[in-house]
Amino acid sequence: MDRADRRLFFKFLNSHHHDEGVRDWFANRDLFTRWLTAERVAESGLIDVTTEDVDLARAARDALNALIDDHTPRNAAQLDAIAAQLPLRVRFEGADSHLEPAATGIRGLTARVLGIAHDAMRDGTWARLSHCQNDTCQWAFLDQSKNRSRRWCDMSTCGTKSKARAYRARQRELRERAAEAERQLRDSAVAGDSPPTEQINTGADRPPFRATSL
Ligand SMILES: [Zn+2]
Repeated sequence: MDRADRRLFFKFLNSHHHDEGVRDWFANRDLFTRWLTAERVAESGLIDVTTEDVDLARAARDALNALIDDHTPRNAAQLDAIAAQLPLRVRFEGADSHLEPAATGIRGLTARVLGIAHDAMRDGTWARLSHCQNDTCQWAFLDQSKNRSRRWCDMSTCGTKSKARAYRARQRELRERAAEAERQLRDSAVAGDSPPTEQINTGADRPPFRATSL
């Protein structure tokens, strides 16, 4: 995957937002046209955007993302059905060859992305694709870590947000458990029983996360 291919591939896959006003740039023709301009992926011949083409691009994007998450035959068949509708051809260059779109416009652009996915499966890049585990992001990224353990598209933004959110959830859970234990203690005191012996650690003295884990 060369630099230009990689840029287009991720711009295409990540054309959705989960924490902003616009959630899906491929939702309709108007948004798609704005995305083409904003991301500077428009080429000559990409002026005519039809609803059918946008629907096909969105279906291809969603099928690619699904296949990254889960390499099931069902997900592969879904992408395969979309690929059958797109014109791709083999281009030979010296002793090398690659797939390229045999069309212009949105169909050509979508075909090119599928050609990039094909190359990625050949050169091992595909196996390193993953999705950000920050629920409000979910963008695809290339995991180049040694043991393929990266969880977030960007550690300084999504990683920090996710850890802070997990910390708040843990604190909430601990507070609820402490309140519940207190309730039980009160109830048993009223009933004349001996109090429960379980110690509840609220964890309030702990930092949100270790600086070294960032
Ligand atoms: Zn992210």
